[in-house]
Amino acid sequence: MLQIYSSHSKKKEPFKPIHQGKVGIYVCGMTVYDYCHLGHARSMVTFDVITRYLRVRGYAVNYVRNITDIDDKIINRAHENGEDITALTERFIEAMFEDEAALYILRPDKEPRATDNIPSIIELIETLMAKDVAYLAENNDVYYEVAKFDDYGKLSHRDTDESTQAGARIAIGEAKKDPLDFVLWKAAKPGEPQWDSPWGPGRPGWHIECSAMSMNCLGESFDMHGGGFDLLFPHHENELAQSEAATGKPFVNTWIHAGFLQINKEKMSKSLGNFFTIRDVLKEYHPEVVRYFLISSHYRSPLNYSTESLGIARGALERFYIALRDLPAAECPKDTEFEKRFHDSMDDDFNTPLALAVLFDLTREINRIREDQLELAAQYGALLRKMAGVLGILNQAPESYLQGSGDSDSDDEVAKIKGLIAARNQARKDKDFAKADSLRDELTNMGIAIEDGADGTVWRRS
Ligand SMILES: [Zn+2]
Repeated sequence: MLQIYSSHSKKKEPFKPIHQGKVGIYVCGMTVYDYCHLGHARSMVTFDVITRYLRVRGYAVNYVRNITDIDDKIINRAHENGEDITALTERFIEAMFEDEAALYILRPDKEPRATDNIPSIIELIETLMAKDVAYLAENNDVYYEVAKFDDYGKLSHRDTDESTQAGARIAIGEAKKDPLDFVLWKAAKPGEPQWDSPWGPGRPGWHIECSAMSMNCLGESFDMHGGGFDLLFPHHENELAQSEAATGKPFVNTWIHAGFLQINKEKMSKSLGNFFTIRDVLKEYHPEVVRYFLISSHYRSPLNYSTESLGIARGALERFYIALRDLPAAECPKDTEFEKRFHDSMDDDFNTPLALAVLFDLTREINRIREDQLELAAQYGALLRKMAGVLGILNQAPESYLQGSGDSDSDDEVAKIKGLIAARNQARKDKDFAKADSLRDELTNMGIAIEDGADGTVWRRS
């Protein structure tokens, strides 16, 4: 039985889909004004693994992740750059697609954009106005009136007094009745993108786009809503308040939040100088190493990025690939204890560290039996790949991974290594063993281990 931790109830609950055999899941996506950073990668990989596993469990999954392509940050960045807003958002949407593909993240089924959904956003605000839980302020902004929704705070477990104390305030230029009220529609300012509405020209607030697009794609009540933990309050609290006030129905059954990512035990921030984009990290590490690192901790636990943790990830992948190397093709065995344990781990709130432990046990077994029971070892190899596929790792042929060494080597360095290996092979052919040995020493000094096999010489980082 699949159990999932709900941020709402704060406990693991057995998963029961609203429609048998189907899962509707909405995840808050990127605001596209810059490159995705490692924290984004964690959230993206978390929900990639969750949706992959739900599909393995036989569910027809409808995975929706929005793209926020109109927002203050976008407008400000475009002005700073002197760039057209659409040119800026298109550029970073493309970059996001590239980063995702590099990390083996499968694209969601739907990726609605806020600017393509303005009519349904306006319609939802009209419903909230008709129900008298939203109001038009003097400055022509439309606000949601939090005091009218009794359950406000139920998701993030805050009472409204506490939230008020936590620093909600009315900023200059805002015209709301209460500090907790939040904007649904912003009246147009000069030089900003704008759309016509019953309240005059303007643009949507951030929270309302997610309520409109999620219910558009998945219905008024759906199974799962996810995002990074930082979105729990106020974003998800506000989404819930808007949606349930509009429909009178439960909005979401299970709220899922991915934990924070730290850098050397500190918060990642530009001001601390420890801010990494996905592309920064991929210059240093092979994408599978980064992906392994991102799933090496349970998705709700804090995850710490350090040279050491990436080194552990690299070592782990190398062990898997070395076990898979030179195994003949074989059918995947059915109903093994290994696969049962893997499913039990994933059924327990998608516990990827436990699932990885099963992969290690299987790897040890492959190594133990490969001399005497090659056929069974090969079958286990197929099983290892199958289970790893649910986690999105071991996507490559062992040879090409090990020769690529788990690093993004520069072309120059790879050319040099290959050159030395070719020279050594020539020296051996010429029976100049002293020269061959000295070339091997040179490679060893570069941290490169080589192995001579039937298919030629293979190298990897030692
Ligand atoms: Zn959202």
